[in-house]
Amino acid sequence: MSEAESILAHDAADGDDLLYLAAFQQLVLDRSHDLITVMDRVGTIVYASPAWGSLLGWDPDAVVGSPVLDFVHPDDAEGASVAIGRVAAGDSIDAITLRLRANDGRWVSFDSTTTPLPGPHGEVAYVFATARDVTEREELRERVREVDALYRVADAVGRATSLTELLDESIDTLLEATGADRAAVLLLDDDNVMRFRAWRGLSDEYRAGTEGHSPWAPDELDPQPVLVGDASHADFDERLGNVIRREGIASLAFIPLVHGDRLVGKFMLYHDESHEWGDSEVRLAGTIANHLASAAIRTKARAALRDSRELLEMIMRTVDEGVIVQAAEGGIVYANDGAARVIGFETAADFLAADPREVLNRFEILDEDGNPLAADQLPGRRALRGESSERVVRYRVLETGAERWSFVRANPVYGDTGSVEFAISVIHDITTTRARVERVRFLARASELLNETLEIESTLGALADIAVPAFAGHVTVDLYDDGVLRCVGARHVDPVKTELMIRLRRKYPPTVPEHPVQRALRSGEPQLVPDVQAEAESMAHDEEHVQAIHELGNTSGIVVPLTARGRTFGAITFGTVPPQLPFTEPDLEVAVELGRRASAALDNALLYREVGARAHAAKALEFVLDGVVLVDSDGIVRLWNPGAARVFRVKAQKALGRPVEDVIADWNTLSERITAAPDPTAGASRPETLPVDVKGNERWLSISAVPFPGGTVYAFCDHTEERAVDQLKSDFVSTVSHELRTPLAAIYGAALTLQRDDVRLEESQRTGLLDVISSEADRLARIVNQILWASRLDSGQMGVAIESCDAAKLAHQVVHALRALAPADVELTCEAPDALPPVAADPDKLRQVLTNLVDNAVKYSPDGGSVRLSLSLSGSRIRFRIDDQGLGIPPAEQSRIFEKFFRLDPNLTRGVGGTGLGLYISRELVLRMHGRIWVLSDGRRGSTFTVELPVAS
Ligand code: ADP
Repeated sequence: MSEAESILAHDAADGDDLLYLAAFQQLVLDRSHDLITVMDRVGTIVYASPAWGSLLGWDPDAVVGSPVLDFVHPDDAEGASVAIGRVAAGDSIDAITLRLRANDGRWVSFDSTTTPLPGPHGEVAYVFATARDVTEREELRERVREVDALYRVADAVGRATSLTELLDESIDTLLEATGADRAAVLLLDDDNVMRFRAWRGLSDEYRAGTEGHSPWAPDELDPQPVLVGDASHADFDERLGNVIRREGIASLAFIPLVHGDRLVGKFMLYHDESHEWGDSEVRLAGTIANHLASAAIRTKARAALRDSRELLEMIMRTVDEGVIVQAAEGGIVYANDGAARVIGFETAADFLAADPREVLNRFEILDEDGNPLAADQLPGRRALRGESSERVVRYRVLETGAERWSFVRANPVYGDTGSVEFAISVIHDITTTRARVERVRFLARASELLNETLEIESTLGALADIAVPAFAGHVTVDLYDDGVLRCVGARHVDPVKTELMIRLRRKYPPTVPEHPVQRALRSGEPQLVPDVQAEAESMAHDEEHVQAIHELGNTSGIVVPLTARGRTFGAITFGTVPPQLPFTEPDLEVAVELGRRASAALDNALLYREVGARAHAAKALEFVLDGVVLVDSDGIVRLWNPGAARVFRVKAQKALGRPVEDVIADWNTLSERITAAPDPTAGASRPETLPVDVKGNERWLSISAVPFPGGTVYAFCDHTEERAVDQLKSDFVSTVSHELRTPLAAIYGAALTLQRDDVRLEESQRTGLLDVISSEADRLARIVNQILWASRLDSGQMGVAIESCDAAKLAHQVVHALRALAPADVELTCEAPDALPPVAADPDKLRQVLTNLVDNAVKYSPDGGSVRLSLSLSGSRIRFRIDDQGLGIPPAEQSRIFEKFFRLDPNLTRGVGGTGLGLYISRELVLRMHGRIWVLSDGRRGSTFTVELPVAS
């Protein structure tokens, strides 16, 4: 039977009930797992149940007599003492939780119920307390609190956007979880000094006094909490001790913040009373500290990351480079504003919000050379295939035709598994650089092409080739020509319109004052016309012109004046034609540059043309027989052509650069008589023929003058010869009239005499008169004959029939015929060797020649003398020689006597008549018979004429 059974068995027994009850109560007390304590009214233990031994390790009998508060945790002591007082006063107190110290120093939690035990007189004699071990429950509760605290810290860590916020949050949590009066968290700074980062209830003075203090060295491995239950007994250095005391801190705990072995800071917990630091609170603080440490590090890192991310974002926003991140499947996960701008969006957000297919359809993607570029060749797509690449990509906006050039570099980003997760493309917009490069290249090419030629047409051609279509849709060049603006060339991107443009330009020259060409010419400044159509009215001549401008449909235009060497000599017009975009300011620069180059080239070409023309003119002047002399405004000879050298018998070297009056004798008198034309356009003045003394000889010069801006050009033509011929002709007329009148008068006189009835004529007289008529008629016939011969020779009607003739026989006949007519004092003879070969001649013509020569010989021997015709053989020629002893011929005139109409000065011929045709006819006939004729005379007495003709074969 168990003890309880035996006690219960007592139930049925009669007799000592009270005794039984006491024994029963004793049994309950002894066996109860609860701690049962009976105290007097001030809390001195009078009974302790055996559970004091089993639960706390104390001997129940030994604790009797001790105040119960000695066993109560200091933090619970006050509650306990209040409870005892109240129970002593008669109250019952249910369930206060307090901790009792076990024999081994542990604290064990109990839920205690205290009731008063009345004494014999009804007063409270004892305080009875039962207490149940609730350690497990309390521990659980502690854990919950801990977990709750940790949760709150974790939550705070999660929510905290800054380290400061996190530290503040965790300090509040810690204070709440541990019940400490004050707390602080300090972190090691970059110099390994502990700095307060968050605190509660600490004065500035305290913080200043303790900052930097640490119970651990900064590099201490596994630092442990340092707990100070009673600061007054701790061995702080004096200064620190004073600071702590002044702050009213009685107890403090240093909890290290450790992250991965490394001390990063500390938690400080403070109590204003001395405090026994419990494991759980230290553990809680430690746990929170660890959390905090790693959170601090994380937050710090995250803050740094965020900072750098923000920085990166800012960089990304502001950099010109576009950045696009594509995910493995090709979608764009990130793009900065720069990238958006390249694509034509304002911001990255707009870009990312757009439908990628729609975006792609806006463009034509081209390679550097303008060929379409397949999408899979884009560096971003290649990067997704794991290839790093870079290339120039051109995006042509289909809507506007505008083109952007980018340099795109893309790299793959690999994930943990080794596959490409992202492709990062960096896009550098090189449109402006490219444009600049293109512009430089374009202008360099332009210079090259424009300098290739000096021909104005090819220069214009080169200009058109350069400008259309690379720069403009059309180009037109207008140049001044004699002060009038003339379209010299045009090129339109559409060849059909080139013609139309030129026609239009010629029909409607850009002469309207408001026409941009006029504006450019007036101001010397380039003109940009952003909208040609809008200005059509102001530049047009009439309504039809306006229509034509609309028809051509140019959108914008630039006019650049063509200037060189300080003068504007025309203008160049560039125009845009859709789909080309209208010109903008940067285009103006290109146009000006192009215009500058074109100006130089055109100026060169014009100069060259001028120089060429001058060179040609100068060349021509070399061959011009006329003398051409350029005298500048200072009267200096600047040009002296060979003609001038001939006219004035002065070489160019002697004339050039010298004052004209030094070169041309009597210049001043001469120039007074020359009236220069008013201006070059009026042509030369009417030439004046004036006698000029040239080295002592009188020359008749026809002179005309043309002024030009730098001087006057004189043209001299030597008319001396012609003038002499004219003179001869007029002399001839008078001579011939005279020559004809003389025989006619004689014949007329003789005939009249013969006709007279009143006068009886002797037969001899009659014969004499008839002889006169006959011989004078013969003379007349000869004169007329000579004139006829001369005219036949001149008109080329003189045929020559060469045959083999007997020269001697012919000579004898001539001499015989003339002997009859010759004066008595002239002795006419003919000599010919016997064996003279026949001569190859036209006998009539030879007879005429010999007649002329013998007749002259007789004629010009007014004082008589012998005239001899002698024949001889000279090599293969028959020589006819006519000697006379007459007047002779001055050597200076000997070459001229064979000229038509030439006659010696009548003073020299003593009035011997003649036509001046005889020798001319003779020479012409001899030449036609392949012979020659010459004269020898000393000019004083006698002449010898010789004729040579070939021997007949
Ligand atoms: P013309 O009818 O005057 O004789 P020519 O032609 O026969 O014309 O001769 C030209 C000139 O040459 C003559 O006028 C004369 O002055 C000169 N002349 C020609 N023959 C002689 C001569 N034998 N002696 C001197 N003078 C001559």
